Amino acid sequence: MTDKTCVFCKIIDGEIPSHKVYEDDDVFAFLDISPINEGHTLVIPKSHTDSLWDLDEDSYSKVMSVVKKLSAAVNTALQPARVGMNLEGFDVAHAHVHVVPLQKGFKESLKTHQPGGDVDHDALAKTAEKIILAL
Ligand code: ZN
Repeated sequence: MTDKTCVFCKIIDGEIPSHKVYEDDDVFAFLDISPINEGHTLVIPKSHTDSLWDLDEDSYSKVMSVVKKLSAAVNTALQPARVGMNLEGFDVAHAHVHVVPLQKGFKESLKTHQPGGDVDHDALAKTAEKIILAL
């Protein structure tokens, strides 16, 4: 089920290009274009659902299983101090889990994060390649 007005559904359909790092029948993952740190990845269910908490157990488990798999790949590829996970449900009304390589805690990391600005697609493509190789 897709929502024609949803940015993430358009990314899944390929209508909007993304730096994809993972895809299976139910789950899709791609790099955040405004990363908190290099390797900041978004993991989403393919079926349009507003909140992760609205997913049935099976879909929820599938998403979280990919989150775990990707956090291991991000850890291997980028060797941060920790790989964090964040879920808040703002920005886009399509359930998404942030997988974020961290050198310090989220609160500290966000202090220096400047959302928006120019997107470095070359850097994102290289990062995606590293993560895919580590999967
Ligand atoms: Zn959607």
